[in-house]
Amino acid sequence: MTSPISTDLGSDLPVEEFRALAHEVADWAADYLGGVGSLPVLPGVRPGDVRSALPATPPLQGESLTEVLSDFRDVIVPGLTHWNHPSFFGYFAMTGSGPGILAEMLTAALNVNAMVWRSSPSGTELEELIADWLRQLLGLPPSFDGVINDTASSSSLHALAAAREEAYPNVRNEGMFQQNPGRIYASEEAHSSIEKATLTLGFGRSGYQRIKTDGRLSMCPAALRSAIQEDVALGLKPVAVVTTLGTTSTAALDPVREVADVAQEFGLWLHVDAAYGGPAAIVPELRELFDGWEMADSIVVNPHKWLFTPVDCSLLYCRRPEVLIRAFSIVPEYLKTPETGAGRNLMDYGVPLGRRFRALKLWFVLRYFGRQGIVDRLRSHVALAQELAAWIDAAPAWERVAPAPLSLVAFRFVSKRLDGAALDDANHRIMERVNESGEAFLTHTVVRGRTCLRVSIGNLKTTHAHVRHTWKLLQEAATYEGGSIHP
Ligand SMILES: *Cc1c(COP(=O)(O)O)cnc(C)c1O
Repeated sequence: MTSPISTDLGSDLPVEEFRALAHEVADWAADYLGGVGSLPVLPGVRPGDVRSALPATPPLQGESLTEVLSDFRDVIVPGLTHWNHPSFFGYFAMTGSGPGILAEMLTAALNVNAMVWRSSPSGTELEELIADWLRQLLGLPPSFDGVINDTASSSSLHALAAAREEAYPNVRNEGMFQQNPGRIYASEEAHSSIEKATLTLGFGRSGYQRIKTDGRLSMCPAALRSAIQEDVALGLKPVAVVTTLGTTSTAALDPVREVADVAQEFGLWLHVDAAYGGPAAIVPELRELFDGWEMADSIVVNPHKWLFTPVDCSLLYCRRPEVLIRAFSIVPEYLKTPETGAGRNLMDYGVPLGRRFRALKLWFVLRYFGRQGIVDRLRSHVALAQELAAWIDAAPAWERVAPAPLSLVAFRFVSKRLDGAALDDANHRIMERVNESGEAFLTHTVVRGRTCLRVSIGNLKTTHAHVRHTWKLLQEAATYEGGSIHP
Protein backbone atom coordinates (compact mmCIF):
# COMPACT_ATOMS: atom_id res chain seq x y z
CA MET A 1 0.00 0.00 0.00
CA THR A 2 1.26 3.44 -0.80
CA SER A 3 0.94 6.21 1.70
CA PRO A 4 -1.52 8.97 0.72
CA ILE A 5 0.84 11.47 2.28
CA SER A 6 3.25 12.80 -0.26
CA THR A 7 5.40 15.00 1.93
CA ASP A 8 8.38 13.67 3.79
CA LEU A 9 6.97 12.55 7.14
CA GLY A 10 8.76 14.01 10.11
CA SER A 11 10.24 16.97 8.31
CA ASP A 12 9.54 20.55 9.29
CA LEU A 13 9.67 23.71 7.24
CA PRO A 14 13.16 23.65 5.69
CA VAL A 15 15.51 25.96 7.54
CA GLU A 16 16.35 28.16 4.55
CA GLU A 17 12.65 28.68 3.80
CA PHE A 18 12.14 29.45 7.47
CA ARG A 19 14.87 32.08 7.26
CA ALA A 20 13.32 33.80 4.23
CA LEU A 21 9.82 33.77 5.73
CA ALA A 22 11.11 34.97 9.09
CA HIS A 23 12.57 38.02 7.34
CA GLU A 24 9.27 38.58 5.59
CA VAL A 25 7.36 38.29 8.87
CA ALA A 26 9.81 40.67 10.58
CA ASP A 27 9.32 43.20 7.77
CA TRP A 28 5.56 42.87 8.08
CA ALA A 29 5.74 43.39 11.86
CA ALA A 30 7.96 46.48 11.48
CA ASP A 31 5.57 47.98 8.91
CA TYR A 32 2.64 47.15 11.14
CA LEU A 33 4.17 48.76 14.22
CA GLY A 34 5.10 51.81 12.18
CA GLY A 35 1.67 52.19 10.61
CA VAL A 36 -0.82 50.85 13.16
CA GLY A 37 -1.80 54.41 14.11
CA SER A 38 -3.51 54.87 10.74
CA LEU A 39 -5.62 51.68 10.99
CA PRO A 40 -9.09 51.78 12.58
CA VAL A 41 -8.67 50.88 16.27
CA LEU A 42 -11.92 48.92 16.31
CA PRO A 43 -12.49 46.82 13.16
CA GLY A 44 -15.64 47.24 11.11
CA VAL A 45 -16.58 43.55 11.44
CA ARG A 46 -19.69 41.89 12.85
CA PRO A 47 -19.71 38.66 14.89
CA GLY A 48 -19.20 35.74 12.52
CA ASP A 49 -17.55 37.75 9.71
CA VAL A 50 -14.02 36.48 10.33
CA ARG A 51 -15.01 32.87 10.73
CA SER A 52 -17.21 32.80 7.66
CA ALA A 53 -14.38 34.22 5.53
CA LEU A 54 -12.27 31.12 6.27
CA PRO A 55 -12.70 27.47 5.23
CA ALA A 56 -14.78 25.45 7.70
CA THR A 57 -12.58 22.37 7.39
CA PRO A 58 -8.82 21.87 7.67
CA PRO A 59 -6.75 21.29 4.53
CA LEU A 60 -5.92 17.71 3.58
CA GLN A 61 -2.66 18.59 1.89
CA GLY A 62 -0.31 21.10 3.41
CA GLU A 63 -0.53 24.64 2.07
CA SER A 64 2.18 27.13 1.31
CA LEU A 65 2.92 29.58 4.10
CA THR A 66 2.82 32.36 1.55
CA GLU A 67 -0.90 31.65 1.17
CA VAL A 68 -1.39 31.44 4.93
CA LEU A 69 0.37 34.78 5.37
CA SER A 70 -1.76 36.35 2.71
CA ASP A 71 -4.95 35.23 4.51
CA PHE A 72 -3.43 36.56 7.72
CA ARG A 73 -3.05 39.98 6.07
CA ASP A 74 -6.39 39.97 4.23
CA VAL A 75 -8.75 38.28 6.69
CA ILE A 76 -7.24 38.15 10.17
CA VAL A 77 -5.69 41.61 10.48
CA PRO A 78 -8.81 43.50 9.28
CA GLY A 79 -10.76 41.64 12.00
CA LEU A 80 -8.50 42.81 14.83
CA THR A 81 -9.00 45.42 17.51
CA HIS A 82 -5.59 47.06 17.56
CA TRP A 83 -4.26 47.15 21.11
CA ASN A 84 -1.05 48.59 19.63
CA HIS A 85 -2.90 51.66 18.33
CA PRO A 86 -1.85 54.89 20.08
CA SER A 87 -5.54 55.81 20.55
CA PHE A 88 -6.49 52.52 22.19
CA PHE A 89 -7.78 53.71 25.56
CA GLY A 90 -10.08 50.79 26.47
CA TYR A 91 -9.80 48.33 29.36
CA PHE A 92 -6.16 48.85 30.31
CA ALA A 93 -4.08 50.18 27.45
CA MET A 94 -0.76 48.40 27.15
CA THR A 95 2.28 48.06 24.90
CA GLY A 96 3.85 45.12 23.17
CA SER A 97 7.14 47.02 23.01
CA GLY A 98 9.86 46.35 20.42
CA PRO A 99 12.23 44.66 22.89
CA GLY A 100 9.37 42.56 24.23
CA ILE A 101 8.33 41.44 20.75
CA LEU A 102 11.89 40.47 19.82
CA ALA A 103 12.18 38.39 22.99
CA GLU A 104 8.84 36.70 22.20
CA MET A 105 10.26 35.68 18.81
CA LEU A 106 13.22 34.06 20.54
CA THR A 107 10.97 32.43 23.15
CA ALA A 108 8.94 30.86 20.35
CA ALA A 109 12.11 29.65 18.62
CA LEU A 110 13.50 28.11 21.82
CA ASN A 111 10.22 26.51 22.91
CA VAL A 112 11.61 25.51 26.31
CA ASN A 113 9.40 24.45 29.18
CA ALA A 114 10.64 25.36 32.65
CA MET A 115 8.69 22.81 34.68
CA VAL A 116 11.68 21.82 36.76
CA TRP A 117 15.17 23.33 36.95
CA ARG A 118 16.61 20.59 34.76
CA SER A 119 14.03 21.12 32.00
CA SER A 120 15.26 24.70 31.56
CA PRO A 121 18.08 25.89 33.81
CA SER A 122 18.29 29.34 32.19
CA GLY A 123 14.52 29.63 32.05
CA THR A 124 14.28 28.93 35.76
CA GLU A 125 17.15 31.09 36.89
CA LEU A 126 16.32 34.04 34.65
CA GLU A 127 12.79 33.97 36.07
CA GLU A 128 14.21 34.10 39.61
CA LEU A 129 16.57 36.91 38.69
CA ILE A 130 14.07 39.01 36.78
CA ALA A 131 11.45 38.67 39.51
CA ASP A 132 14.06 40.00 41.87
CA TRP A 133 15.00 42.89 39.54
CA LEU A 134 11.37 43.95 39.34
CA ARG A 135 11.04 43.59 43.12
CA GLN A 136 13.93 46.03 43.52
CA LEU A 137 12.39 48.48 41.06
CA LEU A 138 9.09 48.30 42.94
CA GLY A 139 10.85 49.00 46.24
CA LEU A 140 9.68 45.81 47.93
CA PRO A 141 11.86 44.11 50.56
CA PRO A 142 13.94 41.02 49.63
CA SER A 143 11.58 38.81 51.65
CA PHE A 144 9.23 38.87 48.62
CA ASP A 145 9.89 35.97 46.30
CA GLY A 146 8.44 36.22 42.78
CA VAL A 147 7.17 33.77 40.19
CA ILE A 148 5.71 34.51 36.77
CA ASN A 149 2.19 33.42 35.81
CA ASP A 150 0.13 34.02 32.70
CA THR A 151 -2.38 36.46 34.18
CA ALA A 152 -3.32 38.27 37.37
CA SER A 153 -6.33 35.97 37.55
CA SER A 154 -3.97 33.01 37.96
CA SER A 155 -1.67 34.91 40.32
CA SER A 156 -4.55 35.85 42.63
CA LEU A 157 -5.96 32.32 42.49
CA HIS A 158 -2.58 31.00 43.57
CA ALA A 159 -2.24 33.61 46.31
CA LEU A 160 -5.66 32.81 47.73
CA ALA A 161 -4.93 29.08 47.51
CA ALA A 162 -1.90 29.78 49.73
CA ALA A 163 -4.14 31.77 52.08
CA ARG A 164 -6.52 28.80 52.22
CA GLU A 165 -3.64 26.43 52.90
CA GLU A 166 -2.53 28.64 55.76
CA ALA A 167 -6.02 28.90 57.25
CA TYR A 168 -6.88 25.19 56.90
CA PRO A 169 -3.68 23.17 57.43
CA ASN A 170 -5.55 19.96 56.60
CA VAL A 171 -7.29 21.12 53.46
CA ARG A 172 -4.93 19.11 51.27
CA ASN A 173 -6.11 15.88 52.86
CA GLU A 174 -9.69 16.67 53.70
CA GLY A 175 -10.80 19.07 50.98
CA MET A 176 -13.15 21.94 51.68
CA PHE A 177 -16.37 20.05 52.41
CA GLN A 178 -15.33 19.18 55.95
CA GLN A 179 -14.17 22.68 56.83
CA ASN A 180 -15.66 25.47 58.81
CA PRO A 181 -16.96 27.92 56.15
CA GLY A 182 -14.37 30.59 55.36
CA ARG A 183 -14.56 34.20 54.30
CA ILE A 184 -12.54 36.19 51.79
CA TYR A 185 -12.90 39.99 51.97
CA ALA A 186 -12.37 42.53 49.20
CA SER A 187 -13.79 45.93 48.41
CA GLU A 188 -16.87 46.31 46.25
CA GLU A 189 -14.51 47.71 43.59
CA ALA A 190 -12.25 44.60 43.52
CA HIS A 191 -11.68 42.80 40.21
CA SER A 192 -13.94 39.90 39.22
CA SER A 193 -10.89 37.58 39.26
CA ILE A 194 -10.98 37.70 43.07
CA GLU A 195 -14.55 36.45 43.15
CA LYS A 196 -13.66 33.83 40.55
CA ALA A 197 -10.78 32.63 42.74
CA THR A 198 -13.04 32.34 45.79
CA LEU A 199 -15.53 30.30 43.75
CA THR A 200 -12.77 28.07 42.38
CA LEU A 201 -11.34 27.50 45.85
CA GLY A 202 -14.65 26.32 47.26
CA PHE A 203 -15.65 29.31 49.40
CA GLY A 204 -18.72 29.98 47.25
CA ARG A 205 -20.43 33.29 46.73
CA SER A 206 -21.49 33.35 50.36
CA GLY A 207 -17.83 33.13 51.34
CA TYR A 208 -17.02 36.32 49.46
CA GLN A 209 -17.65 39.53 51.37
CA ARG A 210 -17.60 42.84 49.55
CA ILE A 211 -16.58 45.69 51.80
CA LYS A 212 -17.97 49.12 51.14
CA THR A 213 -15.86 51.98 49.85
CA ASP A 214 -15.60 55.66 50.74
CA GLY A 215 -15.99 58.74 48.53
CA ARG A 216 -12.69 57.95 46.80
CA LEU A 217 -13.85 54.38 46.07
CA SER A 218 -11.24 53.04 48.55
CA MET A 219 -12.04 50.23 50.95
CA CYS A 220 -13.25 51.40 54.41
CA PRO A 221 -11.03 49.67 57.00
CA ALA A 222 -13.66 50.21 59.70
CA ALA A 223 -16.26 48.39 57.59
CA LEU A 224 -13.76 45.59 57.07
CA ARG A 225 -13.15 45.27 60.80
CA SER A 226 -16.85 45.09 61.63
CA ALA A 227 -17.52 42.55 58.85
CA ILE A 228 -14.77 40.33 60.26
CA GLN A 229 -16.06 40.71 63.81
CA GLU A 230 -19.58 39.77 62.71
CA ASP A 231 -18.29 36.68 60.92
CA VAL A 232 -16.20 35.64 63.93
CA ALA A 233 -19.28 36.04 66.14
CA LEU A 234 -21.18 33.74 63.74
CA GLY A 235 -18.44 31.13 64.08
CA LEU A 236 -17.18 31.57 60.50
CA LYS A 237 -13.50 31.57 59.58
CA PRO A 238 -12.01 34.78 58.16
CA VAL A 239 -9.27 33.65 55.75
CA ALA A 240 -7.95 36.52 53.63
CA VAL A 241 -8.42 40.11 52.65
CA VAL A 242 -7.66 41.43 49.18
CA THR A 243 -6.79 45.09 48.68
CA THR A 244 -6.54 46.70 45.29
CA LEU A 245 -3.99 49.34 44.30
CA GLY A 246 -5.43 50.68 41.08
CA THR A 247 -8.96 49.29 40.66
CA THR A 248 -10.14 48.30 37.23
CA SER A 249 -13.03 50.76 37.09
CA THR A 250 -11.31 53.94 38.27
CA ALA A 251 -7.73 53.18 39.47
CA ALA A 252 -8.84 53.72 43.08
CA LEU A 253 -6.33 52.81 45.78
CA ASP A 254 -7.26 50.99 48.97
CA PRO A 255 -5.56 52.19 52.20
CA VAL A 256 -3.24 49.19 52.39
CA ARG A 257 -1.50 50.10 55.63
CA GLU A 258 -4.75 50.40 57.55
CA VAL A 259 -6.16 47.26 55.97
CA ALA A 260 -2.90 45.47 56.81
CA ASP A 261 -3.34 46.41 60.46
CA VAL A 262 -6.81 44.84 60.45
CA ALA A 263 -5.50 41.75 58.68
CA GLN A 264 -2.75 41.41 61.25
CA GLU A 265 -5.14 41.91 64.17
CA PHE A 266 -7.25 38.95 63.00
CA GLY A 267 -4.43 36.87 61.54
CA LEU A 268 -5.66 37.04 57.93
CA TRP A 269 -3.64 36.60 54.75
CA LEU A 270 -3.27 39.96 52.96
CA HIS A 271 -3.19 39.87 49.18
CA VAL A 272 -2.59 43.05 47.16
CA ASP A 273 -3.98 43.22 43.63
CA ALA A 274 -1.79 45.78 41.86
CA ALA A 275 -2.16 44.14 38.44
CA TYR A 276 -2.43 47.46 36.65
CA GLY A 277 -1.22 50.02 39.19
CA GLY A 278 1.86 48.21 40.49
CA PRO A 279 4.45 49.57 38.02
CA ALA A 280 3.68 53.11 39.27
CA ALA A 281 5.64 52.19 42.42
CA ILE A 282 8.78 52.47 40.25
CA VAL A 283 8.15 56.24 39.95
CA PRO A 284 9.61 57.98 43.04
CA GLU A 285 6.83 60.55 43.49
CA LEU A 286 4.13 57.86 43.16
CA ARG A 287 5.74 55.39 45.57
CA GLU A 288 3.83 56.87 48.53
CA LEU A 289 0.55 55.60 47.01
CA PHE A 290 1.83 52.11 47.82
CA ASP A 291 2.59 52.85 51.44
CA GLY A 292 2.11 49.69 53.48
CA TRP A 293 1.98 47.17 50.63
CA GLU A 294 5.21 45.66 51.95
CA MET A 295 3.07 44.31 54.82
CA ALA A 296 1.19 42.04 52.40
CA ASP A 297 1.63 38.29 52.27
CA SER A 298 1.29 38.34 48.49
CA ILE A 299 1.20 40.94 45.73
CA VAL A 300 0.36 40.67 42.03
CA VAL A 301 1.77 43.06 39.40
CA ASN A 302 1.22 42.57 35.65
CA PRO A 303 4.12 43.72 33.46
CA HIS A 304 1.83 42.99 30.51
CA LYS A 305 -0.40 45.86 31.54
CA TRP A 306 1.62 48.97 32.30
CA LEU A 307 5.20 47.77 31.87
CA PHE A 308 5.58 47.43 28.10
CA THR A 309 5.75 43.61 28.14
CA PRO A 310 3.68 41.66 25.58
CA VAL A 311 0.84 39.54 26.98
CA ASP A 312 1.12 37.41 28.95
CA CYS A 313 3.26 38.17 32.00
CA SER A 314 2.06 38.46 35.59
CA LEU A 315 4.34 38.53 38.63
CA LEU A 316 3.14 36.97 41.87
CA TYR A 317 5.22 38.02 44.87
CA CYS A 318 4.86 36.01 48.00
CA ARG A 319 6.47 36.64 51.37
CA ARG A 320 5.88 33.03 52.39
CA PRO A 321 6.58 30.98 49.24
CA GLU A 322 6.76 27.84 51.39
CA VAL A 323 2.99 28.14 51.92
CA LEU A 324 2.43 28.43 48.17
CA ILE A 325 4.55 25.33 47.69
CA ARG A 326 2.64 23.50 50.42
CA ALA A 327 -0.57 24.30 48.55
CA PHE A 328 0.63 23.14 45.13
CA SER A 329 3.60 20.84 45.21
CA ILE A 330 2.97 17.32 43.96
CA VAL A 331 5.99 15.54 42.50
CA PRO A 332 5.28 12.41 40.47
CA GLU A 333 8.12 9.98 39.89
CA TYR A 334 8.82 11.14 36.32
CA LEU A 335 9.44 14.69 37.52
CA LYS A 336 11.91 13.80 40.26
CA THR A 337 15.34 15.18 39.48
CA PRO A 338 18.72 15.06 41.20
CA GLU A 339 18.69 18.87 41.55
CA THR A 340 15.56 18.98 43.69
CA GLY A 341 16.41 21.10 46.69
CA ALA A 342 19.25 22.91 44.93
CA GLY A 343 17.54 24.35 41.83
CA ARG A 344 14.03 25.75 41.94
CA ASN A 345 11.23 23.74 40.35
CA LEU A 346 8.70 26.27 39.09
CA MET A 347 5.95 23.66 38.76
CA ASP A 348 5.68 23.73 42.57
CA TYR A 349 4.33 27.30 42.65
CA GLY A 350 0.93 26.95 41.03
CA VAL A 351 -1.52 24.99 38.91
CA PRO A 352 0.29 24.67 35.54
CA LEU A 353 3.09 22.18 35.12
CA GLY A 354 4.50 23.59 31.90
CA ARG A 355 5.26 27.24 31.39
CA ARG A 356 6.38 29.53 28.61
CA PHE A 357 9.74 31.25 28.94
CA ARG A 358 8.15 34.56 29.93
CA ALA A 359 11.12 35.87 31.86
CA LEU A 360 13.05 36.49 28.65
CA LYS A 361 10.79 39.30 27.44
CA LEU A 362 10.74 41.03 30.82
CA TRP A 363 14.53 40.85 30.89
CA PHE A 364 14.72 42.45 27.42
CA VAL A 365 12.23 45.15 28.46
CA LEU A 366 13.92 46.06 31.75
CA ARG A 367 17.36 46.15 30.12
CA TYR A 368 16.27 48.18 27.09
CA PHE A 369 14.33 50.85 28.97
CA GLY A 370 16.24 50.86 32.26
CA ARG A 371 14.86 52.28 35.47
CA GLN A 372 15.07 55.87 34.24
CA GLY A 373 13.45 55.10 30.90
CA ILE A 374 10.56 53.38 32.66
CA VAL A 375 10.10 56.24 35.13
CA ASP A 376 10.07 58.83 32.31
CA ARG A 377 7.47 56.92 30.31
CA LEU A 378 5.14 56.15 33.22
CA ARG A 379 5.39 59.80 34.29
CA SER A 380 4.36 60.97 30.85
CA HIS A 381 1.29 58.68 30.91
CA VAL A 382 0.26 60.08 34.28
CA ALA A 383 0.77 63.63 32.98
CA LEU A 384 -1.44 62.91 29.93
CA ALA A 385 -4.16 61.55 32.22
CA GLN A 386 -3.93 64.66 34.39
CA GLU A 387 -4.26 66.91 31.34
CA LEU A 388 -7.38 65.07 30.22
CA ALA A 389 -8.78 65.23 33.76
CA ALA A 390 -8.25 69.00 33.77
CA TRP A 391 -10.07 69.43 30.43
CA ILE A 392 -12.98 67.38 31.76
CA ASP A 393 -13.08 69.38 34.99
CA ALA A 394 -13.25 72.62 33.01
CA ALA A 395 -16.09 71.48 30.73
CA PRO A 396 -19.59 72.11 32.15
CA ALA A 397 -21.19 69.15 30.30
CA TRP A 398 -18.74 66.63 31.74
CA GLU A 399 -17.78 65.44 35.19
CA ARG A 400 -15.21 63.12 36.62
CA VAL A 401 -16.54 60.31 38.78
CA ALA A 402 -13.32 59.50 40.65
CA PRO A 403 -9.85 60.87 41.35
CA ALA A 404 -7.26 59.98 38.70
CA PRO A 405 -4.14 59.15 40.69
CA LEU A 406 -2.54 57.08 37.91
CA SER A 407 -3.09 56.92 34.14
CA LEU A 408 -6.82 56.18 34.06
CA VAL A 409 -9.55 58.83 33.92
CA ALA A 410 -13.17 57.90 34.67
CA PHE A 411 -15.82 60.48 33.75
CA ARG A 412 -19.25 60.99 32.27
CA PHE A 413 -21.30 63.32 30.14
CA VAL A 414 -23.92 65.17 32.20
CA SER A 415 -26.94 67.18 31.14
CA LYS A 416 -29.66 69.08 32.95
CA ARG A 417 -32.18 67.58 30.55
CA LEU A 418 -31.28 63.95 31.21
CA ASP A 419 -30.95 61.83 34.31
CA GLY A 420 -30.92 58.21 35.50
CA ALA A 421 -31.13 55.62 32.77
CA ALA A 422 -31.49 58.26 30.03
CA LEU A 423 -28.15 59.77 30.99
CA ASP A 424 -26.55 56.33 31.16
CA ASP A 425 -27.85 55.60 27.64
CA ALA A 426 -26.49 58.92 26.38
CA ASN A 427 -23.05 58.00 27.70
CA HIS A 428 -23.23 54.63 25.97
CA ARG A 429 -24.19 56.29 22.68
CA ILE A 430 -21.33 58.78 23.00
CA MET A 431 -18.90 55.92 23.54
CA GLU A 432 -20.25 53.99 20.55
CA ARG A 433 -19.94 57.05 18.29
CA VAL A 434 -16.31 57.51 19.28
CA ASN A 435 -15.56 53.81 18.85
CA GLU A 436 -17.31 53.60 15.47
CA SER A 437 -15.12 56.43 14.18
CA GLY A 438 -12.19 54.00 14.34
CA GLU A 439 -10.03 56.92 15.48
CA ALA A 440 -10.07 56.07 19.18
CA PHE A 441 -11.34 53.28 21.37
CA LEU A 442 -12.63 53.46 24.93
CA THR A 443 -14.70 51.33 27.26
CA HIS A 444 -17.20 52.01 30.03
CA THR A 445 -17.80 51.04 33.62
CA VAL A 446 -20.43 51.55 36.29
CA VAL A 447 -19.55 53.54 39.39
CA ARG A 448 -22.11 53.79 42.18
CA GLY A 449 -24.79 52.64 39.75
CA ARG A 450 -23.99 55.22 37.05
CA THR A 451 -22.54 54.49 33.62
CA CYS A 452 -19.22 56.25 33.01
CA LEU A 453 -16.53 56.22 30.39
CA ARG A 454 -12.88 55.40 30.93
CA VAL A 455 -9.77 56.58 29.16
CA SER A 456 -6.81 54.40 30.08
CA ILE A 457 -3.40 55.61 28.94
CA GLY A 458 -0.67 53.00 28.74
CA ASN A 459 0.63 52.75 25.21
CA LEU A 460 4.14 54.01 24.47
CA LYS A 461 2.97 55.51 21.15
CA THR A 462 0.28 57.65 22.78
CA THR A 463 1.03 61.37 22.65
CA HIS A 464 -0.66 64.58 23.72
CA ALA A 465 -2.17 64.85 20.21
CA HIS A 466 -3.93 61.47 20.52
CA VAL A 467 -5.48 62.35 23.86
CA ARG A 468 -6.46 65.81 22.63
CA HIS A 469 -8.09 64.37 19.51
CA THR A 470 -10.01 61.82 21.59
CA TRP A 471 -11.33 64.61 23.82
CA LYS A 472 -12.50 66.39 20.65
CA LEU A 473 -14.21 63.20 19.40
CA LEU A 474 -15.96 62.80 22.76
CA GLN A 475 -17.26 66.35 22.71
CA GLU A 476 -18.41 66.05 19.09
CA ALA A 477 -20.20 62.80 19.92
CA ALA A 478 -21.88 64.56 22.85
CA THR A 479 -23.35 67.30 20.64
CA TYR A 480 -25.94 64.69 19.54
CA GLU A 481 -27.02 64.51 23.18
CA GLY A 482 -27.26 68.28 23.55
CA GLY A 483 -23.64 68.85 24.54
CA SER A 484 -21.48 71.65 23.21
CA ILE A 485 -17.80 71.85 22.36
CA HIS A 486 -15.74 73.34 25.13
CA PRO A 487 -12.62 75.07 23.77
C1 LIG B 1 -6.68 43.57 34.73
C2 LIG B 1 -6.84 43.29 36.15
C3 LIG B 1 -6.91 41.98 36.62
C4 LIG B 1 -6.96 40.78 35.70
O1 LIG B 1 -5.84 40.68 34.92
P1 LIG B 1 -5.56 39.39 34.00
O2 LIG B 1 -4.08 39.38 33.92
O3 LIG B 1 -6.22 39.66 32.70
O4 LIG B 1 -6.12 38.21 34.69
C5 LIG B 1 -6.99 41.79 37.96
N1 LIG B 1 -7.00 42.82 38.82
C6 LIG B 1 -6.93 44.09 38.41
C7 LIG B 1 -6.94 45.20 39.41
C8 LIG B 1 -6.84 44.38 37.06
O5 LIG B 1 -6.79 45.65 36.64
